[in-house]
Amino acid sequence: MSGAARMIPAGSVASIGARTLRSVAELDDALLLPPDARAEDLARVGERYAVAVTPAMAALIDPNDPSDPIARQFIPDVAELEALPGEQSDPIGDLAHSPVPGIVHRYPDRVLLKAVHVCPVYCRFCFRREMVGPAGLGTLTTEELDRAIDYIAGRPEIWEVILTGGDPLVLSPRRLREITQRLAAIGHVRVVRFHTRVPVVDPDKVDAGLVDALKASGKTTYVALHANHPRELTADARAACARLIDAGIAMISQTVLLKGVNDDADVLTALMRAFVENRIRPYYLHHPDLAPGTSHFRLGLDEGRALVEQMRGRISGLCQPTYILDIPGGYGKVPVLSPAVREGDDGCFRIRDYRGGEHIYPPPAESSVANEKG
Ligand code: SF4
Repeated sequence: MSGAARMIPAGSVASIGARTLRSVAELDDALLLPPDARAEDLARVGERYAVAVTPAMAALIDPNDPSDPIARQFIPDVAELEALPGEQSDPIGDLAHSPVPGIVHRYPDRVLLKAVHVCPVYCRFCFRREMVGPAGLGTLTTEELDRAIDYIAGRPEIWEVILTGGDPLVLSPRRLREITQRLAAIGHVRVVRFHTRVPVVDPDKVDAGLVDALKASGKTTYVALHANHPRELTADARAACARLIDAGIAMISQTVLLKGVNDDADVLTALMRAFVENRIRPYYLHHPDLAPGTSHFRLGLDEGRALVEQMRGRISGLCQPTYILDIPGGYGKVPVLSPAVREGDDGCFRIRDYRGGEHIYPPPAESSVANEKG
């Protein structure tokens, strides 16, 4: 059911049922594909990259708006089939810094713990799109989780553990509690941070059992919420965040700067203000990574800088995130508005990483890493 122009009665999408849509055919049946899209073309995208749209996100999509910023984040696009030179299957270099399965140890005082590579939604711009989804890296086995925890326990310099993935909040409260309790038992780990989209895309999942499971006894728990457009912060999403914060969990935000979604100072201002009004501290505004088939989302660093400078001074300092670039290849993050990022006469940027190494951005095309999925 696609190809022909049609008008969808407002609100009809919300009635598709309380079930996550997991294929292009299901999105088509729910009338969520753009009127000018051919389902058979998008099905090829769905074979290549995982698809999932939760009921909460499906209900937000206006199928009559070809530029809908929610649809753009979750509905496949044929542009995803075009991987450009310079794009990389592991754009931020997780694999180069993974001493044991599930651990990424890029900076001295913190590690990523990737227990699961499944998400409640699949973002079309995902920087780990080659690792997440049903055909992704899967969930750590019991033995792998033991090794990952042992790795953390054996390194006193690890002050913070960041659970990411995938989205760790897809795990059951029982599994989450087991992990937080094991981390709580490690004396030198002081902070446990969860990176998630769940409070926005599946707010009902944030119930008392889940909230309790996130709290690591004697440690500080942070939840970093990934949201990119103010419409994502629905009343249900705000209530889910309030349940976390009222339980003593600190919240910060993460937003990806995305062409056609939030590359507008007014939209970013509304989003940052919504975070602050809901007691969520704006943390990072990420420059989009060089993930394969995502060039239609990418702005230039100069465009991103101009947007962030527009926001500076106009809105409260509480509402200012740090605009950040993950240097391709795993060299770590750098604030884009810092002396470590300099624009050259050739239109490229010279970037100094935290260890003093120099990099060119965008990187030369020959640094591309082949897509292992072909
Ligand atoms: S929730 Fe995060 S890891 Fe999952 S698809 Fe979106 S960006 Fe990727």
